[in-house]
Amino acid sequence: KGKAKKAAKLATKEIKRAAVLGAGIMGGGIAYQSAYKGVPVVMKDIRQDALDLGMNEASKIMGKLVDRGRMDHKKMAKVLSSITPTLLDEGVKGVDIVVEAVVENPDVKGKVLAQMESIVDTDTILVSNTSTISIDRLAKNLKDPSRFCGMHFFNPVHKMPLVEVIRGEKTSEETVAAVVAYATRMGKTAIVVNDCPGFLVNRVLFPYLAGFAGMVDEGVDFAGIDKVMERQFGWPMGPAYLSDVVGIDTADHCTVVMADGFPSRMPRDTSSAIAKLAAAERYGQKNGKGFYNYG
Ligand code: NAD
Repeated sequence: KGKAKKAAKLATKEIKRAAVLGAGIMGGGIAYQSAYKGVPVVMKDIRQDALDLGMNEASKIMGKLVDRGRMDHKKMAKVLSSITPTLLDEGVKGVDIVVEAVVENPDVKGKVLAQMESIVDTDTILVSNTSTISIDRLAKNLKDPSRFCGMHFFNPVHKMPLVEVIRGEKTSEETVAAVVAYATRMGKTAIVVNDCPGFLVNRVLFPYLAGFAGMVDEGVDFAGIDKVMERQFGWPMGPAYLSDVVGIDTADHCTVVMADGFPSRMPRDTSSAIAKLAAAERYGQKNGKGFYNYG
């Protein structure tokens, strides 16, 4: 009876305050969306310039809404004031959920998650926005994996409706319920998926991108492939442009994780077009140069 009571309490654990680790493309977007939907958020990064960029992005998104008459200045100020940027780990104390959105590297994520677990309250939920890394693999870094799962948003966060909630082997049902409720509160459609590298969407997407990179390696013009995929095949963007939007470094890390996870299905090609661009520090839109150049 006691257990059920505890479970019921956890199942209705409302997320009233959140923290996001990483203020990059995804962390900044998640922080904005949470604040916009009324859940105040602490945004933590290791670089001040990343925090500044995260705040600027939120201002830009809302500036457009204000210009179109869909938001007033008062609401914009309120949203901005409910995002608290910080460089300090201690800044995340007292939150109900921590969303990890740092670089797609299992070792870095493992360290960051373990460090967070040692700081936050024992009933704080930890989630990872990893694109591809298995949740059970990340959970090995934690003392209590029952409070941990994947919460995978898509880019750009304020526009993309889907959130994959990834249930690890040891994730409790209460944790899943609370994370689904938080995603819904953020205006998103949550789907609960089982754990594997890439989950649902990226198990489909990365073999596609590997196929594209293989054609580029064979000498096919990347812009030509984009044109066909966009204009004739009807997709909103082609694979080269999509890789620039995702971030070439992130796409490269994800390709490695997927190739290791599905060796018989995905090539582990360290000299592919995407790997070459990453090595040349052409990271896509985030640093102004990837497959394409951005002014
Ligand atoms: P990004 O390079 O834009 O941002 C990463 C941020 O993390 C940087 O600002 C960096 O300074 C910060 N960081 C690094 N170590 C940190 C630490 N120890 N503590 C706090 N901050 C730290 O990357 P991104 O595109 O936002 O990706 C972040 C995560 O989201 C990755 O796991 C990625 O796979 C995932 N993701 C990315 C996309 C996408 O389209 N870019 C989509 C879904 C999920």
